[in-house]
Amino acid sequence: MITAGVDIGSVAAKVFILGEEDKAVYLVRPSGFNIADVSRRVLQGAAEKMGIELGAIDKIVATGYGRNSVPFECDRVTEITCSAAGARHLYPNAELVIDIGGQDSKVIKIGKNGAVQQFAMNDKCAAGTGKFLEVTAGVLETSVEELGELSLMSKNKVAISNVCTVFAQTEIVNLIAQRTAREDIAAALNEAIASRVFAMVNSVGYNIQGDAVMTGGVAYNKGIVKLLGQMLDKNIVVPPNPQIIVAMGAAVIARNRALNK
Ligand code: ADP
Repeated sequence: MITAGVDIGSVAAKVFILGEEDKAVYLVRPSGFNIADVSRRVLQGAAEKMGIELGAIDKIVATGYGRNSVPFECDRVTEITCSAAGARHLYPNAELVIDIGGQDSKVIKIGKNGAVQQFAMNDKCAAGTGKFLEVTAGVLETSVEELGELSLMSKNKVAISNVCTVFAQTEIVNLIAQRTAREDIAAALNEAIASRVFAMVNSVGYNIQGDAVMTGGVAYNKGIVKLLGQMLDKNIVVPPNPQIIVAMGAAVIARNRALNK
């Protein structure tokens, strides 16, 4: 049995192929403008990586904001369900998933049976998402890849009071003019995101016995993971490749559906 999860996000297209004996490959590429084309190319690339023909894939589940534009035969499942399935696949005790992607952030509570019990989602604006970090990192002349490590070097606390991406940029420019250290501004940006996401965690409740898992590209940012861990007063588990967990969940759902589980 070979299944695939295709997660077309706002920033990145991810494909995860799950083969026999849990053999797996994944591929991540920029989403671009042409979703149909990019999903075909990423799926083809992942299949080549596994050394199989596309026809060998028994079932595909598409997810992400672009799931309805995926041009091949597949089931379409929400990212919330796939995120929970991916987290549970890796961490059977996962009870809370915090997923921060390029364009939205989600907090998902998983019930004992593995089903989604409750969730909160911010998809209205860039505030509290990876896009906010991409834009504001640019003002700091750094990259999202470096922002986490940079923020961990902060010695002085400063605040960015506005999580609106447009207003935050003005605040950063003012802080730079006041000769505020870049690492302190980086820490303030991470704090702005973490506080916003923590409010969502609070809305679903985080009094949990099991694991709190962070997924999505922003989970690469060690500063945000540390801040959220402090806010939750709990160690947050981050998978080695947090950005592909939703695609992994989609492939797991595809396998379960193909097996009629
Ligand atoms: P989407 O599903 O919406 O495409 P992703 O889960 O792929 O979103 O996450 C994309 C976001 O992750 C980017 O906006 C960026 O902020 C962040 N990101 C991606 N790679 C890294 C990295 N190596 N380090 C820090 N942040 C990253």
